[in-house]
Amino acid sequence: MGEVKNGLLDIYERRIDYLRISVTDRCNLRCFYCMPNEGVPFMAYSRILRYEEILRLTDIFLEMGIKKIRITGGEPLIRKNILFLVKELGKRKSLRELTLTTNGIRLSEYAYDLVQAGVERVNVSLDSLNKKNYEQMTGVNLFNNVMQGINISQELGLKIKLNIVAMRGRNDGEFLDFLKFGIENDIDIRFIELMPQYYNDSIAENLFIPEGEVLKIIEKMYTLIPGATGSEKTTAKLYKIKNSRVTVGFISAVSHPFCSECNKIRLMPDGTLRTCLFGDSGVNLKNLLAEKKTNKEIKVEIVKAVKAKPEKHNLNEEWPKLVMHRVGG
Ligand code: SAM
Ligand code: SF4
Repeated sequence: MGEVKNGLLDIYERRIDYLRISVTDRCNLRCFYCMPNEGVPFMAYSRILRYEEILRLTDIFLEMGIKKIRITGGEPLIRKNILFLVKELGKRKSLRELTLTTNGIRLSEYAYDLVQAGVERVNVSLDSLNKKNYEQMTGVNLFNNVMQGINISQELGLKIKLNIVAMRGRNDGEFLDFLKFGIENDIDIRFIELMPQYYNDSIAENLFIPEGEVLKIIEKMYTLIPGATGSEKTTAKLYKIKNSRVTVGFISAVSHPFCSECNKIRLMPDGTLRTCLFGDSGVNLKNLLAEKKTNKEIKVEIVKAVKAKPEKHNLNEEWPKLVMHRVGG
């Protein structure tokens, strides 16, 4: 276990090679299941990692075997000068894949520079293809911005994957529309199960739709071929849609936990390293930087944290520890 020649392994022999970096807990949307309208407390700016700190930590992680980085948030494209970080990360030779998850509102402004920086694919979160429904779910009337972002990205060769949180009574009438949209536009589709988190346990209880139910609806219209492989190692269960190039996948942490396959660790905006989406917060790496720890000392702490990565999540007990707009998904 620990830092080995071929990377970072945990005690369950899972190879940790994927780092998600949440660069902000702030957002320009208010998706009702993620950031309730009553308002949420944000981290003080002074607690948030500066880009220089993120880069120093990233270089340490890369030396420890991280091969893939996803930038997330909150909304990553609202953090000031985010392109500086993306461009710097894009220069890291040992990084195999650099991606980003965004709500797409500002994607059209950034798509060109993201491509230039070496980003090949972005995940766009879009829970409705209906303008009115979109506005009800997000609190803003900016559906067209997302569409424009998707179109421009595709023109520039930036691949798009669509993330949809499946919700009863909110978008279950649109599942087939999402597939049609994906097939017509050559966009892979991912359905995410709604997870309970600090702000939304009753919403999650009432609106949750298990993967199996989504599948049943889709299979009325489309033939799905199981076992498709994506461009990446993925925890999504993937299917190819017959007679199309598009895949549909399910990220089902509730009904089909994929903990035994989990290769991720997460860096939160304040520098906390999380080894499980639902788990306790781990070591705070920003504090270690402030204490002027050497890279070697920081690596020791990372190895310790990875050693404590739980074998599996216990959603029933741990949902209150999840604040999605901080952790970033
Ligand atoms: N703001 C960006 C976005 O929406 O793509 C990045 C951060 S957002 C927290 C990342 C993903 O988490 C989005 O696809 C969002 O729909 C999803 N998400 C947020 N809360 C969730 C929940 N309670 N259950 C499942 N997915 C959730
Ligand atoms: Fe913002 Fe993403 Fe949360 Fe929606 S899901 S409120 S876009 S962080």
